[in-house]
Amino acid sequence: KENTVQTAVAAEYFPPTATRVMMNLGDPDLADKYSTLPADGIGLMREEFLWTTYIHQHPLYLIETGHPERVVNELANGISKVCRAMNPRPVVLRFSDFKSSEYRNLKGGDKFEPHEPADLLGWRGASRYYDPKYIEAFKLELEAVKKVRNEYGLKNLNVMIPFCRTVEEAEKVTKIMADEGLERSRDFKVYMMAEIPSNIILADKFNKFVDGYSIGSNDLTMLIMGTDRNNDRVSALYDERNLAVKRAIRHLIKTAHKDGKVVSICGQAPSEYPDFTEFLVRSGIDYVSVNPDMVKETKLNVAHFEQRILLDKATGLGIQDTEDYDW
Ligand code: PEP
Ligand code: MG
Repeated sequence: KENTVQTAVAAEYFPPTATRVMMNLGDPDLADKYSTLPADGIGLMREEFLWTTYIHQHPLYLIETGHPERVVNELANGISKVCRAMNPRPVVLRFSDFKSSEYRNLKGGDKFEPHEPADLLGWRGASRYYDPKYIEAFKLELEAVKKVRNEYGLKNLNVMIPFCRTVEEAEKVTKIMADEGLERSRDFKVYMMAEIPSNIILADKFNKFVDGYSIGSNDLTMLIMGTDRNNDRVSALYDERNLAVKRAIRHLIKTAHKDGKVVSICGQAPSEYPDFTEFLVRSGIDYVSVNPDMVKETKLNVAHFEQRILLDKATGLGIQDTEDYDW
């Protein structure tokens, strides 16, 4: 009850913006507390947190030892906490995107995981979901989503596919989902992360399989700039604000909008650099998803940027793009 009042107060102080401000969330136990923030929903709920905090064990190990229902129940439990806290605001759950070294840390994981010298570029994200070596584990994630939506009736749950390298992968994964009863519809959205240059270059082809994108600026910057996101020696060259990354983002928004697809961002860029949010709003992004501690500031900033853009348009004066963002 207290939450409802606080949420209403927050909504009054923070008038709606055309660009929706969402929030990134890992720990479901913080969902209640953060639900009073003036966020329009959860733009990225990271599933990995549920695995490392509540499940601890490798999904294939749990299947092998006869406890697959543990995965479904633990995931459904965590996801539903977030959906309940935010209801009716939308929640976007991202399917697991562990790297093989991270999976190996889960109990029983060493038996199922390859040793990959560059696992940021290895067996991660969508490439696992249709792989005969992993597909049964992916189906447990789908079961959990169905349980939350159908059994618990929390229809504000939507999903997102991470690290999807090719159009064929998008087709295969969405087909598996549809076969399992999770087909895109008016009240169930399937998004994909845009975090690989191929996602941007071929956005016109990916459009067919998804309702929209969330820009993973962390991986996207790494892959466009050719800088390992975890290597301090090249961290100065790892900059989301580089024109190459900005051009990619503009191109994605334009290409997605041509087919009526929405674009969000859930990487760290707008949480770290408020100026970056201005670039995003000027580029016509639909949603910006930031860390909880940046929600209020981002909401105020977005309202301000939107007003300024309107004024600029009305007067024909004001700030214009400072760089050539056209691809
Ligand atoms: C990203 O790549 O920007 C992202 C949000 O995903 P992660 O940081 O989990 O790879
Ligand atoms: Mg990523």
